[in-house]
Amino acid sequence: MPYVRFLNAVAKARRPSPIRQLTELLQKSPPTMISMATGMPNAEQFPFHEASFTLKDGNKVHISPSEMKNCLQYQATPGLPELRSWLKTMQKTIHNPPTWDLSGRPEQMDLMITTGSQHGMATVCDMLVTHGDKVLTANPLYSGTIAIMKPLGAKFIDIKTDAHGIIPEHLSEVMSAWPDKEQPHHSDSVNIPKLLYCVPNGDNPTGAGLTYERKAKIYAIARRYNLLILEDDPYYFLQFNKPRGRSFLSMDVDGRVLRFDSFSKMLSAGIRVGFVTGPKALLEKVNYNLQASVLHTSAVSQMIVYKLLEHWGLEEFLRHTEEVSDFYQGRKDVLLAAANEHLQGLAEWHEPSGGMFFWLKLLGIKDSHDLIMNKAREKEVLFVPGSAFTAHKDEKSQYVRACYSLATDEQMFEGMRRLAELIKEHQGKL
Ligand code: PMP
Repeated sequence: MPYVRFLNAVAKARRPSPIRQLTELLQKSPPTMISMATGMPNAEQFPFHEASFTLKDGNKVHISPSEMKNCLQYQATPGLPELRSWLKTMQKTIHNPPTWDLSGRPEQMDLMITTGSQHGMATVCDMLVTHGDKVLTANPLYSGTIAIMKPLGAKFIDIKTDAHGIIPEHLSEVMSAWPDKEQPHHSDSVNIPKLLYCVPNGDNPTGAGLTYERKAKIYAIARRYNLLILEDDPYYFLQFNKPRGRSFLSMDVDGRVLRFDSFSKMLSAGIRVGFVTGPKALLEKVNYNLQASVLHTSAVSQMIVYKLLEHWGLEEFLRHTEEVSDFYQGRKDVLLAAANEHLQGLAEWHEPSGGMFFWLKLLGIKDSHDLIMNKAREKEVLFVPGSAFTAHKDEKSQYVRACYSLATDEQMFEGMRRLAELIKEHQGKL
């Protein structure tokens, strides 16, 4: 699939860094290679020697002195080879992208490690979005994505949603409304959207999850109108309905999906390890961007993640994801019960399909901003006002986002009781 249409001027101008290329070459060289090429520091001078992590089950994961020396050093930009290889096998096992053949044929797909998935998204948007570009999204939209795309000049085109996320029929309607001369088969079309962004599971902020049928319809529309799909899926493992739904990546016969995964909810948010999977030709540009910016994600973080995954193996990792998912499902059930007890007639909601968020529509309230930012604080309860999740200037929102990851059962019931009181006060019922 030709990608030139999707790249902005910055991405087209990026070139590989000769020094970074040498770092990759050195990684693959035999120990007999004499290198006076790259400007690497001498790792013998670093004070760290080895490390050992104790897991919650009492097992220990050890980073040996030679592994330590390796991860304290500059690494190739796409990530630690052993971690990339582990993750490629995982993606192949879970998503089995149709164009990904790990055994022999030149690969059309690739995987790069990023400093959390948001870093991956920011880097990709840096190379795809030109000022004035139209991006198809849900509204409300993850605030981090607004923060990335808006300053780049993206114009957000809202696609209608319901409890199951983006409605494909509306997407189709929006795209077919563009005049024929703007359609992608006209090579100079610049106005028609090229990008579709979505959080397919446990959406932040709505908790919605796209069904397989919807994904298949959306993918077909993306093919018809030559769209790239940005599949931002940090809540993939937090789907409450089992078996987990298939990803866009799993149906990507063309190479039009860039998938963003995160370890933030499964292993650690602070460790800052995520990964992007997608067409090799696009990831090459991501590579050039990172070569010019962070050089690579912390190799110490990568090594810690790798040693844990190596120790566990895929099966144990997947078992862990089930445990984490069960935990969040339990938290969701408590918040649901608390909302049922206190908010009947005062708010409306859909039960989250996964993730960590509950999206509440406050009845009789035009804009939740003041209520949440001021009055709720006085009552000592915190939520995020819905206006934080709209990209449109001055758009009001009658929604609030409640996160059920941290609060205790008692706090959730009390939090919903306080919210109910606030709504009643606002409606003049108290
Ligand atoms: N995308 C979405 C939809 C999120 O909710 C989050 C986490 N708040 C991220 C991306 C960022 O995840 P990471 O920690 O992997 O950067």
